[in-house]
Amino acid sequence: MSLAHGRPYLAIPGPSVMPDAVLRAMHRASPNIYEGALVDMVAGIIPDLKHVAQTEGNAAIYIANGHGAWEASLSNVVAEGEQVLVAATGRFGHGWADMAQGLGIETEVIDFGRQTPVDPARVAEALAADKEHRLKAVLMSHVDTASSVRNDVAAVRRVLDETGHPALLMVDCIASLACDVFRMDEWGADVMVAGSQKGLMVPPGLSFVFFNDRAAAQRAAMRRVSRYWDWVPRADPEFFYQYFGGTAPAQHLYGLRAALDLIREEGLEQIWARHETLARAIWAAADVWGSDGPLSMNIADPANRSHAVTALRVGAPYGAELRKWTDTKAGLTLGLGLGMSEPDDPNGTGFFRIGHMGHVNAHMVLGALGVIEAGLQGVGVPYGRGGVSAAAEVIGAA
Ligand SMILES: *Cc1c(COP(=O)(O)O)cnc(C)c1O
Repeated sequence: MSLAHGRPYLAIPGPSVMPDAVLRAMHRASPNIYEGALVDMVAGIIPDLKHVAQTEGNAAIYIANGHGAWEASLSNVVAEGEQVLVAATGRFGHGWADMAQGLGIETEVIDFGRQTPVDPARVAEALAADKEHRLKAVLMSHVDTASSVRNDVAAVRRVLDETGHPALLMVDCIASLACDVFRMDEWGADVMVAGSQKGLMVPPGLSFVFFNDRAAAQRAAMRRVSRYWDWVPRADPEFFYQYFGGTAPAQHLYGLRAALDLIREEGLEQIWARHETLARAIWAAADVWGSDGPLSMNIADPANRSHAVTALRVGAPYGAELRKWTDTKAGLTLGLGLGMSEPDDPNGTGFFRIGHMGHVNAHMVLGALGVIEAGLQGVGVPYGRGGVSAAAEVIGAA
């Protein structure tokens, strides 16, 4: 029977659950976009965004999703015909590389597969081989949302420094910002991209490019940057409309203001700790489920796992069946396996992901885990009993 009638729960890795405060803030008539409260509010949003990014650098806002931020960031610092190195650890690394290719940028991709993090030693080799410094940037995801791997950004900065390579370090934090610990300035990221619909708890439609002075200098040396993607007027506007390259996305900005207020109230350190504890609860459950049967987490080493998304393997066709079961029987929508297999692979239905980013607390995670455990039984896949108890122990001890 279906037990789905009640409040549905979208536990996919973005868009994430939107707080009622964000939804309420957005449900408003458009304000005066020339002067007054909206203009003042945006001036206050910028420092709060930089705080979340842990940077004293610059911030540019785009009316775009994460793909837009990918293109925006590249458009400012890498010209057609120039080269970048991409350290790919899942579907999203390849996605950014694809975006670069679409701009006529030559990409050298080091593919670390779908289950392991970036190995800085291999990045060092590629940098050392580039004696003429043709590589303009190194691209990496902090968290690749498809594989749920978390990469060591500071370690890649170190190999850039050790090899004396001037390439910019460009980091995709779309899945990790305001979830996993990230310190842009301390870790030495030159450019960082983020989106509104994951840890920032706002609907898709806003994205952000943060950049430091080194990146600004590389931008200044570009022969041409498309007017719309140019981050210069957005980061340092003379007129209000230049923040957005046109009309301000007023309702999204109200939502973002509300979300930044929630982040400020809770505190960034506490937000990071909450995500870590909830992630450990999910891993504890998955360890028990996997103790008897086919279920396993995609990333074996907890040190390399995202705190905001967990990719799991359960074997075909159980991943797809489980997602259908939790959705139709219990009102819980889980993420599908993304980029874990080739399109024609019959094992492609053997994966699922749990999104646990942003506005997520203990009762939501325990509820989701309880439903997944029920679903494992419902679809008839063998699993170790007691996953939810193991998760409750982690949360009880926190
Ligand atoms: C979600 C995501 C993207 C893509 O964002 P869209 O808003 O779907 O364009 C890119 N990179 C990472 C790491 C993501 O999690």
